[in-house]
Amino acid sequence: MKAIQVFPDNDHSIGWASLRSSRLLASTLQSDIEVDYLVVGAGLAGLAAARRLAENEPTARIALVDAERVGEGAHARNSGFAIDIPHNTSSMLLNLEQAQRHLRLARAALQYLERQVSAYGIACDWEKIGKFHAAVSDQGINGVLKPTQQLLQALGEPYEWLDQAALQKKVGFTHFKAAIYTPGTVLLNPRTLTQGLVDNLPNQVQVYENSPVMAISYSPKIKAQTPAGSIVAHKVLLAVNAFAEQFDVLKNRLVPVVAYASLTRPLTETEQNELEGLKTWGITPANAFVGVTMRRTPDQRLLIRQNMAYVPNLQSDGQHKADVAQQHQRLFAARFPMLPEVTIQHTWKGIMCMSANMAPGFGELKPNVFGAVCHNGVGLTRGTIAGLLAADLMTQRDNPLLDDMHALGLPTPLPPRPVLDAGVRARLRWEAWQHRLEK
Ligand SMILES: Cc1cc2nc3c(=O)[nH]c(=O)nc-3n(C[C@H](O)[C@H](O)[C@H](O)COP(=O)(O)OP(=O)(O)OC[C@H]3O[C@@H](n4cnc5c(N)ncnc54)[C@H](O)[C@@H]3O)c2cc1C
Repeated sequence: MKAIQVFPDNDHSIGWASLRSSRLLASTLQSDIEVDYLVVGAGLAGLAAARRLAENEPTARIALVDAERVGEGAHARNSGFAIDIPHNTSSMLLNLEQAQRHLRLARAALQYLERQVSAYGIACDWEKIGKFHAAVSDQGINGVLKPTQQLLQALGEPYEWLDQAALQKKVGFTHFKAAIYTPGTVLLNPRTLTQGLVDNLPNQVQVYENSPVMAISYSPKIKAQTPAGSIVAHKVLLAVNAFAEQFDVLKNRLVPVVAYASLTRPLTETEQNELEGLKTWGITPANAFVGVTMRRTPDQRLLIRQNMAYVPNLQSDGQHKADVAQQHQRLFAARFPMLPEVTIQHTWKGIMCMSANMAPGFGELKPNVFGAVCHNGVGLTRGTIAGLLAADLMTQRDNPLLDDMHALGLPTPLPPRPVLDAGVRARLRWEAWQHRLEK
């Protein structure tokens, strides 16, 4: 059996409001069971996969296990941008077919999520209001916004170019030189979304929370051991994102990254009037590593997502989080001088997963062992579609989107550590220096 060495650590710091979940008590695995399909990881990928497996095979026995409660992992810690358009414009411009694939996959994910949000009345503040992709410097305009504009034109996608004054009118503050608005992104509360998704899974999916898989074997049969019970399965899906290497798959292909976000307290009515512009909006920065993602949420808080670091051991220390909280307060003060009394109420961190070539860790990775991991920072849509398509692959359901997914390739092999650590850190430092004006 392969022993799992590192588990998600939960500092219970998420700022997003929570649903009063119908599953007030977690059901923890307490016995030895056998199922047809085991899904490990109940984030966006795992939730989509479990539902789809049940749709595809209504009599199959399906277990979904997670180390924590649903609504605690990165799926509930993100900024809530469910993004439709391709993100990595520089490479996409050279490969329009790849961009079209991303678009189809993301839109299918949005449709799948929207169907559930509306069928079950999930109160996740689902708003299809689009987003502003904004640049602070001429370098950001020429290096990112202009190629993005070319890509959108080539794809025939609607967009609006906003200069500084036009953007200020929309968001009520001035910091950026220009932005591109695209209408397809959905903004939402990721915590209530995922809690609503797990609450409404088909009955045939047995959900076991607070049940970390501590060891796994793949042959002669698939068996996962949790602290108080084990699961034998015919097929397993690993939907554990950056933790996948722990399960002996995608070795030396994944780059775990910690990202931080903060939410302010709700603005008072006077403060809401001080901050002019739309009542809700979302801004993604021209450079995701250096720049600041921001939102004005429906409950009138302001979100700041900034600071990312490579965490090869899947852990980051608490002191760094305290420093980031102060940094976020400074970033906030510089952008919103009209709101001098507003303080940050919550700062949290979450682990996500990147690959050098931006490809997902998707497919049958060993016989009967499948993966739906590594969504390169856009897991709300890419994680959802990876989970759905993994379920189709596991149940041999035809889906033309599988061609799109497979065409994205697999994460390329990386050099061994510690060479890799030095390389990634050097690359991030270079990225930070090169795009320093985008902060
Ligand atoms: C601060 C921040 C902001 C972000 N903003 C955005 C955004 O706006 N839009 C966007 O699309 N993406 C965003 N992301 C990325 C997004 O959150 C991830 O891509 C997404 O959560 C990946 O979903 P997942 O289901 O693959 O993984 P996760 O959500 O990480 O779920 C994996 C699950 O596996 C479980 N697990 C791990 N090990 C074990 C084990 N041994 N046993 C059992 N269970 C285990 C974990 O507990 C976890 O619940 C952001 C991330 C962060 C941290």
